[in-house]
Amino acid sequence: MPYVVTEACVDVKDRSCVRECPVDCIYEGDRQMYIHPEECIDCGACEEVCPVDAIVFDDDVTPELAAQADRGRQLLVPLGRLGGARRHGPLGTDHPDVAALPSRA
Ligand code: SF4
Ligand code: SF4
Repeated sequence: MPYVVTEACVDVKDRSCVRECPVDCIYEGDRQMYIHPEECIDCGACEEVCPVDAIVFDDDVTPELAAQADRGRQLLVPLGRLGGARRHGPLGTDHPDVAALPSRA
């Protein structure tokens, strides 16, 4: 099971996790990052560096976080494997639930 990004990343997006990911599977949405569940190798490097504890191991997701933790899967799996976030570039979108959140800026 992969690591997932939760709502704590919204409007923070400092990209500390991106720099640590050995397989470059953390994709940039307009307001938060998303881990590709089919590309993540479960190394845990990203979780340790997130300043707002937005990254959670899937098995440790609480019922309260379940809906937001699933947004990356819903957004990215239909797109298939994307071949790396640097090569792909920003997604140019967000999960609709993230897009609808009030601004934290
Ligand atoms: S757990 Fe490892 S492979 Fe998965 S997103 Fe984090 S740094 Fe990348
Ligand atoms: S380190 Fe945390 S807050 Fe920063 S971009 Fe990654 S998930 Fe978002």
